[in-house]
This record gives sequence, structure tokens and C-alpha cells, in this order.
Amino acid sequence: AMVTRYAPSPTGFMHIGGIFVSLINKRLSLQSEGVFYLRLEDTDVKRAIPGALDTIVDSLARFDLSPQEGVLRAPAKDGGASSRGEFVQQGSYGPYIQTERVEIYRDYAIDLIRRGFAYPCFCTVEELDAIRQEQMALTVKPGVHGRWAKWRDAPLARVKEALAGGTPFVLRLRAPDDVSGRVEWKDGVKGVISMPVNDLDTILLKSDGIPTYHFAHAIDDHLMRTTHVIRGDEWISSMPLHLQLFRTLGFRPVEYAHVPPIQKLDRAEEVDPETGETKVSDARRKLSKRKDPEANIAYYREIGVPETGTIEYLLNIANSAFEDWRKANPDKPYSAFPLKLNKLAPGGALSDMVKLKSVSQAVVSRMSAEDVYAQGLDWAREYDKELAALMERDPEYTKRALGIERGGKKSNKRITTWPDLRPQLFFFYDELYGGVDAFDFPENVPEADRWAVLKQMLHVFDPADSKEAWFEKVRSIGVALGYAGEVKQYKASPESWKGHVGDVSMVVRVAVCGTRNSPDLTEVMAVLGEPRVRARIERFAR
Ligand code: GLU
Repeated sequence: AMVTRYAPSPTGFMHIGGIFVSLINKRLSLQSEGVFYLRLEDTDVKRAIPGALDTIVDSLARFDLSPQEGVLRAPAKDGGASSRGEFVQQGSYGPYIQTERVEIYRDYAIDLIRRGFAYPCFCTVEELDAIRQEQMALTVKPGVHGRWAKWRDAPLARVKEALAGGTPFVLRLRAPDDVSGRVEWKDGVKGVISMPVNDLDTILLKSDGIPTYHFAHAIDDHLMRTTHVIRGDEWISSMPLHLQLFRTLGFRPVEYAHVPPIQKLDRAEEVDPETGETKVSDARRKLSKRKDPEANIAYYREIGVPETGTIEYLLNIANSAFEDWRKANPDKPYSAFPLKLNKLAPGGALSDMVKLKSVSQAVVSRMSAEDVYAQGLDWAREYDKELAALMERDPEYTKRALGIERGGKKSNKRITTWPDLRPQLFFFYDELYGGVDAFDFPENVPEADRWAVLKQMLHVFDPADSKEAWFEKVRSIGVALGYAGEVKQYKASPESWKGHVGDVSMVVRVAVCGTRNSPDLTEVMAVLGEPRVRARIERFAR
């Protein structure tokens, strides 16, 4: 069983990479019947942002990535009607918020000092700056310990004196004396990696006694029984330090897997001055929080991609095997896909908005009308309040409208993202009827014929008609007025006809729906109901 965790710092911004890494962590723990927990790494107190924990916990919940243990939200007392639940910490190895664990870190720090693996450093900021400047000026570095040498091996008497004088200090880790060695480990995504040993006397405790991330996370991952640390690959450079910390603290190292970030292609075109040819070059870069809206998980919600759509998109770009699996298993939930760490795209996944849309469409087309209603409404409540109010007025009616052609999955394909709900639904509500490309009747049916068609339709219309029976009626109305009963006929000699039966049925469609673009008209009329259909046609009476 794998015990995995998501250990965000509260920055107030939920990056798509955070959802990606959480997805991998949660899937792997569930696949192995393990535990996925959330730990809040909030030791950078200066940068604390109010509401940041809400952003993390609520984003995870939205994507069905809530942890089983760690920091969770309790169910709201009123069932979520007007309030959210309180944060609770659940599990045997808490607290799961680092600032609540300061004493634990301090105990380990004292142990390290006793055993000679850590030492207090009383250098002031000015001193450190001066040392840094000095080192920068040198071409041959004096060895990494040079800058802290003043305190690394200071005699006990001097340390005692500084302590007694109340001089502020930080606690530093003693990097190995011999920094010529290397460390090697097998990374779950990248395979065997070898790097030079840590050569920096890193800060473990800041002058206020609060630990740094490096120190705190090693202790936590050990005490919280993490078996696999799966995180962004920006942490690879810290691995020599982390491995040293585990060893020095006497912990058995955990398994590590570093996931490459989602990237973006920057396409540059350059004209070669000699040949005049345009050269295209693609450079990969990390999704940027500032430049790329899709870096923020909130963006996917805003553009109306259903949450499972975003998740399946991530699985798609992460692991090329997902696409084939999905084709072979159209009815299974994505969670049935056997995710494997060593099958992740090794070069990093590429952000691909076209793929996002096509996955989103496929996900919606597999949803029941019930789910389309629930999830679409949830989106509309925030982004299209007018539509949401209408959808809620008569939920059963709206679901029937959303259920049209569902068997054939054709009309589902009309919805790629939730903003497509409005063009798909507006004509079911009198308030919106005629709202989109309103009353765009076919040009080759003159107004007089238009009314003739509609008037006769009113006579013969029977809501119980099958699609075929209805179309026969339209055909005979059209033929009597000089329209071809078959499109073929019309095409063979367009000069002999005013148009064809398709034009005639389009007149009815435009009158009933207010638009040319609707799913099967007989099904639409069945949902609208006879009185509404008649009332709409009568609007064109003259
Ligand atoms: N708190 C770190 C971050 O925000 C977590 C790194 C890790 O998972 O070890 O990225």
C-alpha cells in the first residue's frame, strides 16, 4: 500500500500542476489501497495569505481529489446551503499543519546539535551579504563552508557567549566535510539519478525557531509514514540535501518520484537574412502563472470544462496509453485506468487546449442528462445566472430538453463546454426564444409561402406524430406550394422548383425554435409541448 501526500504551501493560487500531482498521488494510493493525505506546509509565515487553505481544499474537492487524511473540510452543518464546513485534521500522525508542529521540529533540531550535525550560526544579514559579495568576486570558490566557517567549527565558549548575549541565530545543517562524493537514487519517474552530495550548510531553523521547508518536510514524511513522495521536479535539485537530512536524522528514505511540469510550446518564427526563408523553432517552457491563463485551475472552471473533463485531459497528456484505454473502455470511470508512474510522459506533458476541448466534449457526451443538468447548472449559477434560473424553474423539463437524441449521443456532441448550454437550450424558454441568430428564415421561401407553410402546419400538427409522419406532412405541404419533395429532385433541376422540402421544414424549425440550429425538431416539439408550439407558430400569423 502506498502512503502518498500532497503538501502545498498556502500561496492562494492553485496551479494546474498542483491538481496534476494530486491526481497522481491520489490515484496511486487508491490503486494500492493506501492512503492519500494533505499536509499544509505553511512555515513561510511572512508569505501566508488569508483564504489560501480554502483555495487548496476546495479545489481538491471540486476535482474529487480530497484526501482521506490530513487537513480536511468537515461537512457543513446546514448541509452546505449557506456555509462551508470547518477545517479538521484527521489521521493518526497529525497535526498536519506545519506551524502546529514547531515543537516536534525543535526536538529533532536539538538532537542534531547534540550529535554534531547542526550548529547555530550568528552571522548577521550584513555579514552574510559581505561574505556573498566576497565569494562572488572570486573565480575559485573557497569551498562551500567558507562562508559559514566562522560558526561551523566555533569553539563552544564562543557559542555560549553569543547565546548568553542574546544574539539572534539560525540553525544550520553541517554539510559533509568531504563534498567530492555523489548521491544516487532511483526516481520513480526518471530512473536512476546521480548528483554531487549536498555542499551547503542549509538553514534548518530560522531565527524565530520556525523550520525551513527542507527540514520540516523530511521529519513529516518520516513521522507521517509517507512511502512515496511524488512531487514537481523542481525539487530534484534539493535531493542531495533531502537524502542527507533523512540519513542524518536516522530515517529510512522514502521512494521519490519527480513529475515534470506541464509545458507550453513557444513558437518563434525567424527569417533567415541570407536565404529569406522562415525558420520555425519551438521552445518548451513551464506554464507560467503570469502569462498563461491555463496555469490557474480556476480557468478550466471559468471556460466551463466539466471537472472530469479536466482530469481526463490531464491523464491524456500525462500518459499516452490513456487515450487507447478510454476508447476501449468508454463506459468506465477514469479511475479504472491503471496509472503507472514510469509511464508518465518523460519529457513533460504539453499544454494543449485543443485536446482539452475534445476531451471535454467526449466526457460530456458520455454523461447522463441528469449529470449534464447538475454540472451545467452548477456552472451556470456562477457564469450565466439568467440561464441558471430558467434551468431551475422546472428541472424535469430542462432534463428532458437535455435528454434529446441522447441515445445517439448526437446532441451531446453539441456541448463541448458549459457555455454551449445557452445555444443548446435557449429556445426551450420563452424568455430566451429568438435570442440567438433570431428568425433567420431560408431566403428562397418568400414571406407569403412562409405563412402558408406555417398556417397549414397548424392545421395538421399532431404532437403524437412520429418523426417520419411529421416529415411526410411537411413534404406534402411543400410539394403543394411548388417545392421539390426530394433534395435530389431539386438538385437535378433547381430552376423547376422554388426550393426543396428541407427549406420548408426549416421554416417550421425557425418559427418554433427561433434558430436554424436545433436538434431533431420533432423531439424538440415533444419537449416544448403542443400549446407552446402552436403559440410560437401563431406569432407569424398575418
Ligand atoms: N511545500 C512544497 C511545495 O509547495 C512541497 C514540496 C514537496 O512535495 O515535497 O511545493
